[in-house]
Parts: sequence; structure tokens; C-alpha cells
Amino acid sequence: MENVMGKIIVVDDSMIMRRNLKQIFTNLDHDVVAEAANGVEALEAFKEFRPDLVTMDITMPVMDGVTSMVEILKVDPKAKVLMISSIGQKDQVIDALDKGACNYILKPINYDKVAMVVQEILVD
Ligand SMILES: [Mg+2]
Repeated sequence: MENVMGKIIVVDDSMIMRRNLKQIFTNLDHDVVAEAANGVEALEAFKEFRPDLVTMDITMPVMDGVTSMVEILKVDPKAKVLMISSIGQKDQVIDALDKGACNYILKPINYDKVAMVVQEILVD
């Protein structure tokens, strides 16, 4: 498969998760243009950087990931938002997919799974 590189915003209220995701994307030669720790920061970063992909945590303070995704899609209906979900958030994941998320990954994340799903989204 061709390797498409993209501009990515990583959204999670856990600094460790942001660091882990950023490390994976950097290894894959993607460009992490911004990080955000809640849904409001994510929306602002999206408007500023217009990334090819947003990875979106669900449970966060200030504004949750599903709400933030909906707001991002109002800014750009073609925005690609990948939900990063904890086990036990099935209802929120279904809600997110229903409202326009392009896919989801369950935590704990691993390199191969993230690489594969992100590549599928970016070539689409
Ligand atoms: Mg969280």
C-alpha cells in the first residue's frame, strides 16, 4: 500500500496518550501539527491548522470528544475524525460513528493498529 503522510491533530486529556500517539505518528512520518487536551482546544486547533486527520479521545473535561467532533464537522463537513475510545464506551462510539466519525480505535492502542487504521483513512 502507498504510504500517505498527513497533518494530524492529537486530542486527549491524558498527556501520556498524546505522547504515545505523537510518537507513533512521528515514526510513521506524519506531521503532528497540534495537540489538544479537551474538545474546545481541539476545535480551535482544527480551525487554525486544518489537518488531514484528528484523533479524538471521548472522555475529556470542558468539552467531550463526540461534541467536539460534531463542532469540527460543522466547520468542515469533510473533516476526518478518528475516535480513540476506552473499553466500555460502546454507546458513545456508536453515537460518534452515527454523527460522522470516520472510524474508531479501542484503547490500549498499539503501533500496528494505529498505523493501519490511519493509513486507511488518509488514502480514502
Ligand atoms: Mg480521556
